[in-house]
Amino acid sequence: MLQPTTTGFFGEFGGRFVPPVLEEALAELERAFNYWQADPSFQAELRSMLRDYVGRPTPLYFAHRLTAALGGARIYLKREDLNHTGAHKINNSLGQALLAQRMGKRRVIAETGAGQHGVATATACALLGLEAVVYMGEVDMQRQAPNVARMQLLGAQVSPVTKGAGTLKDAVDAALVDYANNADSTFYLLGSAVGPHPYPLMVREFQSVIGQEVRQQIMESAGRLPDYLVACVGGGSNAIGLFAPFYADTGVRMVGVEAGGKGLASGKHAAALTGGTVGVIHGFCAYAKRDANGEIAPTYSIAAGLDYPGVGPEHCFYKDTGRASYTTVTDTEALQALQLLARLEGIIPALESSHALAYACKLAPTLSPEQIIVVNLSGRGDKDLESLQQFL
Ligand SMILES: *Cc1c(COP(=O)(O)O)cnc(C)c1O
Repeated sequence: MLQPTTTGFFGEFGGRFVPPVLEEALAELERAFNYWQADPSFQAELRSMLRDYVGRPTPLYFAHRLTAALGGARIYLKREDLNHTGAHKINNSLGQALLAQRMGKRRVIAETGAGQHGVATATACALLGLEAVVYMGEVDMQRQAPNVARMQLLGAQVSPVTKGAGTLKDAVDAALVDYANNADSTFYLLGSAVGPHPYPLMVREFQSVIGQEVRQQIMESAGRLPDYLVACVGGGSNAIGLFAPFYADTGVRMVGVEAGGKGLASGKHAAALTGGTVGVIHGFCAYAKRDANGEIAPTYSIAAGLDYPGVGPEHCFYKDTGRASYTTVTDTEALQALQLLARLEGIIPALESSHALAYACKLAPTLSPEQIIVVNLSGRGDKDLESLQQFL
């Protein structure tokens, strides 16, 4: 896998653009991560939790009916939807919660928009006996009431954020203030491959179990590496977890799929790489959706998990160097792909994952039946039933 510089840069992207009080806390986190990452007992404990609690390895499933219907490349689905709590986020939350425990931090804070990362964090903290405080915008709390109830049931304190628009960006700001004030006792558990160094690297390491399993599984079932890896990109954690272990395999092409919303031209989207510009956001340098004045612009997607204006620095580097390509899929295309998979394979994917699937459905017919596409099915769609009823 590609290593960032010691200061956390992938090319010009990444780094740590934070005030001194956070700089100190993040330097401590970086040292602890490097130490425990190299510790065999830490790795053994994480592996055993991933196996016995999360249910890993997740299957790599050959979608034969979907493949036959599209008439082209063979499509394999990496079934992250079968993880405990229904998505890939638990891989990262467990890794970071275990790190918090090893660092002696009994209090874990997180921010959440749609509530998925909050639920994964509350779950990991319940398992490890840690206190969990989850910041969530007031508006989001109303929109995502079932996830608020889940977090509370799991023993987490959900802390409403009334400032600003009462959504994810305001929750991030509130969590950062808490972290700056309480860094001695508190671990900030970040949910995607974004933020200041070492978060993008750390989240990638905890999510790269996805790509490592795919490599082994596709060698067993097909005897060779895939031609394409396809994953949706919000902050970029499920995609980098799939892509990074194949970085050196230049014959394996990678495509990240961003939320095209109502179409790039409409401005209603969340496409940081495809429709954004470079600058600092939330303590790191990356592409982000910005307005004409360079201010962070509001984002939109039918998939709440893709609704973030920035994107992880490693993806920015992959884009500029051409190692991966990035594209968008609209709400409508994602919905169609979701229905197709449900009817042909009996799997209801998350709206986020349906973006990756929709692109694979366009790509497959242009390829030959000997070729292989692996799609990361990052989560299950049960959480989306209510929004589905609105849109269908
Ligand atoms: C949160 C989420 C995403 C987007 O986050 P990444 O960090 O880009 O992976 C994608 N799929 C599902 C199911 C999610 O819950």
